[in-house]
Amino acid sequence: MSKYWSALVSELKPYVPGEQPKMANLVKLNTNENPFGPSPKVIAAIKSELNDGLRLYPDPEGQALKEAIADYHVDFGIAPSQVFVGNGSDEVLAHVFQGLLKHDKPILFPDITYSFYPVYCGLYQIESCVMPLNDRFEIDPADYRRPNGGIIFPNPNAPTGRYLGLGHVEDILQANPDSVVVVDEAYVDFGGETAIRLVNQYPNLLVCQTLSKARSLAGLRVGFAVGNEELIEALSRVKDSFNSYPLDRLALAGAVAAFEDKQWFEDSVNGVIREREKLTAELEKRGFEVLPSKANFVFARHPEHAGEDVAALLREQGIIVRHFNKPRISDFLRITVGTADQNKALIKGLGKLSEV
Ligand SMILES: *Cc1c(COP(=O)(O)O)cnc(C)c1O
Repeated sequence: MSKYWSALVSELKPYVPGEQPKMANLVKLNTNENPFGPSPKVIAAIKSELNDGLRLYPDPEGQALKEAIADYHVDFGIAPSQVFVGNGSDEVLAHVFQGLLKHDKPILFPDITYSFYPVYCGLYQIESCVMPLNDRFEIDPADYRRPNGGIIFPNPNAPTGRYLGLGHVEDILQANPDSVVVVDEAYVDFGGETAIRLVNQYPNLLVCQTLSKARSLAGLRVGFAVGNEELIEALSRVKDSFNSYPLDRLALAGAVAAFEDKQWFEDSVNGVIREREKLTAELEKRGFEVLPSKANFVFARHPEHAGEDVAALLREQGIIVRHFNKPRISDFLRITVGTADQNKALIKGLGKLSEV
């Protein structure tokens, strides 16, 4: 607290990102980064931008990237004017909250979900109403039939990893023609089906995605949204009232190349899915309950050990996973799917549980 702070700043409860420790040799399974790394074509494209051109501002609209994203979704008839790009999907989401979810009525999101949503509500002074997941940790579309100022949920959900079928997403869209329904698809490429295919059917649908997870570019900070042109225009108006150049020249070049290298993307995603299934089987063998995941992480609990204790035991061995000290999920750990070697180290580390 300081006398120099605004009243709003004093009230904020900021998001706490998963830690990025400086220690070497850690098995880092706490922030859902992709262990397989970006395409070499992305690296080459970024290097080719390292020249005197950096003295010039980048394209404020990121038009080349919007075109690459529209081309990638050509089967769904997406035009570049239906795409918004931003500095990570967290920034895109921030603009969504401010530009599309701030109305008189409270917005709806699940009780167990991406913990940045309540933070944006605090920043932009948006009322919210949380809808508890059912006891299988699933979203029940019937909960989203009450009056609201907008709806947002991740699909697959985070940190549960559970995926809601597109038929159920449509139930929510149809029940809410007067609100924007935002589907945050940070993890959709690991086995879900994207709602981008529904964008031209539902003018109230906005789909957000990121290059941080499946495309292994968390360090580049690129996210995007796809929706009806009116929704995209709202985001552009917010962006141009905040920062006209959210994506720098390197990020734009790298992101375009990431969409062009489909082979690398598919191999990487398939590698994560393969490792996820192996890891799930190994955890179940050791008595863990693992929620069915379509993400690059699993959400698991052991019936005999508190989540906090398991996380501490792993940490002693240089293995970092994410634990949320929150109601309903304090016994769970969110474990990012790593390489085969990282997952083996994790399983070996858990062997120590039988000694406690
Ligand atoms: C990782 C994540 C994001 C943010 O992605 P960035 O593009 O890295 O900002 C958004 N939503 C969910 C649910 C995420 O897990």
